Amino acid sequence: MLITLSGMAVDRLVIFDTTLRDGEQAPGFSLRVEEKLRMAKQLELLGVDVIEAGFPISSEQDAESVRRIASSIDEAVVAALARCVPGDIDRAAWSIAPARRGRIHTFIATSDLHLKRKLNMSRQQAFDAAVASVTRARAYTDDVEFSAEDATRSDLDYLCRVIEAVIRAGATTVNLPDTVGYSTPDEIASFFVDVMTRVPNADKAIFSAHCHDDLGLAVANTLAAIGAGVRQVECTINGIGERAGNASLEEVVMATRVRADRLPVTTNIHPSQLYASSQLLTALTGEAVQANKAIVGRNAFAHEAGIHQDGMLKDRRCYEIMRPEDVGVPQTTLVLGRHSGRHAVARRCEQLGLTLSRQDLDRIYRRMVTLANQKKHITDDDLATIASTVLGVSVAGPTRDHALETLHEAGYGFGV
Ligand code: MN
Repeated sequence: MLITLSGMAVDRLVIFDTTLRDGEQAPGFSLRVEEKLRMAKQLELLGVDVIEAGFPISSEQDAESVRRIASSIDEAVVAALARCVPGDIDRAAWSIAPARRGRIHTFIATSDLHLKRKLNMSRQQAFDAAVASVTRARAYTDDVEFSAEDATRSDLDYLCRVIEAVIRAGATTVNLPDTVGYSTPDEIASFFVDVMTRVPNADKAIFSAHCHDDLGLAVANTLAAIGAGVRQVECTINGIGERAGNASLEEVVMATRVRADRLPVTTNIHPSQLYASSQLLTALTGEAVQANKAIVGRNAFAHEAGIHQDGMLKDRRCYEIMRPEDVGVPQTTLVLGRHSGRHAVARRCEQLGLTLSRQDLDRIYRRMVTLANQKKHITDDDLATIASTVLGVSVAGPTRDHALETLHEAGYGFGV
């Protein structure tokens, strides 16, 4: 625990990123080994504490991805998921073996619904499997996380007995997922307080929240859990994940920073890497976030209404509670129109990651002016499309991200 100058006690919050596991297993988000490796390196640059790299028993490719990531990540803990099954634990252990710091994350459902209908197991059988799996995992690594799947819909007495037993067996992190996004913020807060109060050895493990967004409450529930004393949160870039997704990493992190007065925790995240992380994931998966997505959406720092623009020009704090540059978003207040000059165009292109020769810039500028005579504002999409036309790079589907990706692949600029 740290004490700030103002005397407030501030705890370290562990950021567990599951973009490459929960996120990657969602429909349409699967990545190849090389792509997962590239994303993992960006996550390390971002400063996440734990990278959940995959679910090794699920496929050969997953096991290989986890092992490759484990071999090439220096700082972050690399975690592998495993059911409470010996073969899963052994496969996860093999996958994280090259890691400087490796974690086995083992899970079993604890709700009666999942036990009866999905697993066809008794409470006692699940209890025994959980303890045996944590014990087995601890033989491979000192860093073992246990998750009670569907925890928020489990019988509290039974859940507490399982948690006490897995901590005694050596689990160092205990994750209580709201697997189906059913909880509400006040409910999940009292749930965590109840469990942490009732489990006698709760102080021997870090408690963790893993919230889903089926009711759009994943981030709110995660913040409520932090308020209740949770010190690890599981989240994903752009909030991707099963069904409606997981808690969005960028939203959780920025909430803890912008509202540090309400959330006394500190993280190791470098917020200036948030936008780049979001953009890379978008480029790799081909799935863009909605324009109004908090922190990383196209409109998150865009102002068009006259009154807002006026307020922004007088004092940006009128309509912005954080600065775009803090989260790595290029300046969005520079609106291009027919009165803009080459300097502004060059600056905008630079912000999009395009470095241009003087000659290319002239050609892009002239086209921009022509277009600006037909429409009021030149958007980043327009500029990216103009750049691809002028530079002779063919772009199918004139979206900015696609155009930029194609331009970058053709050697313009310095990467996505
Ligand atoms: Mn999940």
